[in-house]
Amino acid sequence: MTAGLYASRAKLDTILLDSVGCGGQSVITDWIDNYPGFPEGSSGYDLAANMEKQARRFNLAVVLEEATSIERQPDGFTVSTPANTYHTKTVIIAAGATHKKMDVPGELDLTGKGVSYCATCDGPFFRDKEVALVGGGDSAIQEAIFLTRFVKSVTVIHRRDSLRAAKILQDKAFANPKIKFIWDSVVTAVRGNDQATAVALKNVRTDAVSELPVSGIFVFIGLVPNTAFLSGLVACDKQGYIVTDDAMATAIPGIFACGDIRVKLLRQVVTAAGDGATAAVAAQHYLESLS
Ligand code: NAP
Repeated sequence: MTAGLYASRAKLDTILLDSVGCGGQSVITDWIDNYPGFPEGSSGYDLAANMEKQARRFNLAVVLEEATSIERQPDGFTVSTPANTYHTKTVIIAAGATHKKMDVPGELDLTGKGVSYCATCDGPFFRDKEVALVGGGDSAIQEAIFLTRFVKSVTVIHRRDSLRAAKILQDKAFANPKIKFIWDSVVTAVRGNDQATAVALKNVRTDAVSELPVSGIFVFIGLVPNTAFLSGLVACDKQGYIVTDDAMATAIPGIFACGDIRVKLLRQVVTAAGDGATAAVAAQHYLESLS
């Protein structure tokens, strides 16, 4: 959204492609507490909607089509979607990342039937129920706290004995009587037929196995960058994140990448916005260098 805002404000002929709508992960984030300028925080939905409104004020064209490939051409690039092919001199890739799966038996079959990757979307379905939540990072702990608005209890299952999440989130979670913890453990299967009923657990220190009866399982074990559609066009690190320089330039002149999809220390809205602004200005400089 920020790259689109900067590019359209600089009067570059810009279209923003998105398969589902603007805002990415922030739309399904309940509350964003650390984006500057909002003393009380903001709902992720409102923040994304305001960013879109602001970008559209500068006539950013938003096209709801999924980019399925980017190809190099002698005079630039073509970006294909199922409906169209767009010819362009420069591309900014801001396709973000999606939640990682546990890859255990039952997870796929019971997705939407108890297994969820979005507490904001599915939390209200588990009112007064007992749920499990897997992970120990910022997303896991933030969403565990959010779930306590609805559920009877949320048991956080973490593969180590200390959390990765920011201290402020940890303190809130430890103080919340509805949040319990199972340490040093991983989920080995999700049980249930039409609906999830339990998770099978293994203690990674002792190898002891157990089952925890739950109605829902929320999975927040990190992110996978959405780079599959690029088919190796740009260089990525071992985890698949796009390698850029400080100006968000990839190894291919004219292609820039910003936000969660690129190699970086901190994946948050504020750093994505900074990346987006840099990418748009760098793209502008690149276009100027062509003329
Ligand atoms: P993350 O920081 O990568 O944390 C993933 C968590 O899942 C870690 O605790 C990790 O354990 C665990 N994990 C990874 N693979 C696992 C597996 N196969 N089985 C079991 N557990 C596994 O991911 P995230 O929490 O989604 O956050 C992603 C990025 O967004 C981060 O940069 C984060 O700071 C940012 N974010 C920030 C906020 C905020 O500022 N409030 C909110 C949400 C997200 P280990 O700890 O043992 O590695």
